[in-house]
Amino acid sequence: MGSVGNAYLDALGIDRWVPRGAVEEAATLAIPPVAPKVSVPAPVPATAPAISPPRAAPAPYQRGPLADDWAGLRDQVAGCTACEQLCRTRTQTVFGVGNERAEWLVIGEAPGAEEDRQGEPFVGRAGQLLNAMLLAIGLPRDTVYIANVLKCRPPGNRDPRPEEVSNCLPFLSRQVELLKPKIILVVGRIAAQNLLATDVPLARLRGKLHHFGPADTPLVVTYHPAYLLRTPADKRKAWEDLKFARATYARLIGGGSA
Ligand code: SF4
Repeated sequence: MGSVGNAYLDALGIDRWVPRGAVEEAATLAIPPVAPKVSVPAPVPATAPAISPPRAAPAPYQRGPLADDWAGLRDQVAGCTACEQLCRTRTQTVFGVGNERAEWLVIGEAPGAEEDRQGEPFVGRAGQLLNAMLLAIGLPRDTVYIANVLKCRPPGNRDPRPEEVSNCLPFLSRQVELLKPKIILVVGRIAAQNLLATDVPLARLRGKLHHFGPADTPLVVTYHPAYLLRTPADKRKAWEDLKFARATYARLIGGGSA
């Protein structure tokens, strides 16, 4: 670990040994001025009241085949309305950012308020901490790819709903197919449990090598940086996770244990 790495361990607060009528007809009685008879107009043929045709329900969102290139996939995400609420409340979709040839893919839960505003995942304080975590294992942010399970912000930062996850996961899976990362680092319980289709608590998902998708991409779990900002005492555990991820990567590329 060089001095740059050490500086970012400091940012992590970690010892260096160790990141939304009817038509109103006036019924006029024509009363002739002289004749005492009342002239009753001929009955008006009954006409059906004008009824507006019922408004057609919006066509359900139908996703066509997923694009097999980054630009096409990005466009599909930007136009996606699969989640009835999220597509109305988002400012914009947050596709993902980074190096499209990266060997590391970092996956979080969903955009927050700042991400929704900026259109980029992991900005703001949590993003800065994520950058520090990555740098601590020698990975400047622009060398990795960063994406979320959901591409739209859940209002009020509520947890993603199961149907929203299942709507959006195909986009992430296609991103994985396009990127072909050597390793996936998942940050946070929500992302980890959804990607691994499990209810196992985060504490029991850490420190183990998992796999994701048809390519069985190696996957390591750690804490979400926003959680670490609230719970700094767990930064040390996050550092252990990062070292585990780095060692796993090194082994995968044939470089032995880091
Ligand atoms: S969260 Fe994903 S699936 Fe849902 S509307 Fe946004 S892009 Fe579409």
